[in-house]
Amino acid sequence: MVDMKRSTQDGSSTDLAPATLAVRAGEQASLAHGATQVPIVYSAAFGYPDVDAWLDVALGRAPGHIYSRNTNPTVHAFEEKVRILEGAEAATSFSTGMAAVSNTLFALLAPGDRVVSIKDTYGGTNQLFVDFLPRIGVRVDLCDTSDHEQIEAAITEGCSLVYLESPTNPTLKVMDIARLSAAGHEVGAIVVADNTFATPINQNPLALGADLVLHSATKFLSGHADALGGVLCGAPPLIAKVYHYREITGASLDPMAAYLLIRSMKTLALRVRQQNANALTIARWLADQPAVAAVFYPGLETHLHHDIAAKQMRGYGGMLSFMLEGGFEAVKRVLPRLRLAHLAANLGAVETLAGVPATTSHVECSAEEREAMGIPEGLVRYSVGIEDAGDLMRDLEQAFAVA
Ligand SMILES: *Cc1c(COP(=O)(O)O)cnc(C)c1O
Repeated sequence: MVDMKRSTQDGSSTDLAPATLAVRAGEQASLAHGATQVPIVYSAAFGYPDVDAWLDVALGRAPGHIYSRNTNPTVHAFEEKVRILEGAEAATSFSTGMAAVSNTLFALLAPGDRVVSIKDTYGGTNQLFVDFLPRIGVRVDLCDTSDHEQIEAAITEGCSLVYLESPTNPTLKVMDIARLSAAGHEVGAIVVADNTFATPINQNPLALGADLVLHSATKFLSGHADALGGVLCGAPPLIAKVYHYREITGASLDPMAAYLLIRSMKTLALRVRQQNANALTIARWLADQPAVAAVFYPGLETHLHHDIAAKQMRGYGGMLSFMLEGGFEAVKRVLPRLRLAHLAANLGAVETLAGVPATTSHVECSAEEREAMGIPEGLVRYSVGIEDAGDLMRDLEQAFAVA
């Protein structure tokens, strides 16, 4: 967990813009020897000259680190950077995004609790909802993501936790975070939002009313598809509870991964702005292609939730999905012809990636479960990189020629 002191030397004062914070924030306390870059501190434990100094750190009376499963200087700088970009008071990190999701849910829920969420959360999160949480006596109600009245009504029946994800994976539905957070708070629930798709550049769920915001850092925060990680931000008492669970169960972020994530995040604002612009251009173009049956992108005026997206997001993100005339068979012919997209189960990277839900976001689910979640098998999930948008559209065009 982080110390709550705000340093101005490292650019963490709140009058600075996100692009500046992405470069500078959160690093000062972890810089040593005059290094301008956060060092990778590969030390399992940290030594003290005497028991009193050691006790002061152990009891939280002085800053410092004891053991790297709990806290580590490199990992701390990563947590600080995300915390400041999300406008949070505290943050803690995890080995993966799923560790962030599962540790948060298991730390905050107990037998007899009820969770309200949506049908099309990330596939791994859905498995926690339909399998692992019910096993410990937690009731989970998954609502139709397109129906805010239904979600609100389910919350109003009473629940201890509301779990939101927006935009969703892979159909890019948008949830009204302010409205559903207010409904959750009416019944005393904790509101958690997965902000992986939006990134803190495009959206800040805490400012919209959520209590906790989490990320799979593996995606846009990394942006280079070379590190796994997760992070959770929010108010100190909630973060302390989840931190304690992670400290004991042990899904800690590795210092090398933290270093890669810090380095990548320096270009987060640049990358996301380019991905926003590319995705909007490509989504508009796809909507006019005869080979394309449907396009899902919150930035399109025709999108089901465009109004909500316009209200709560500063940019619409780098993720889009589309369906081809000819369904799954057409998808299987077209995807291998893409020259400028890796066919791989990741997203948010500088390189464009394409895939189908059955092999990417919802590989953990059965075909029946995907059907129940409203996820068509013939959907192409397209994670737009930072390449030239014209090149990407020409690449799609030549691939569509076989459809
Ligand atoms: C990938 C992803 C996760 C899980 O993150 P991992 O780092 O793969 O464990 C959670 N939520 C969303 C929205 C994701 O895209």
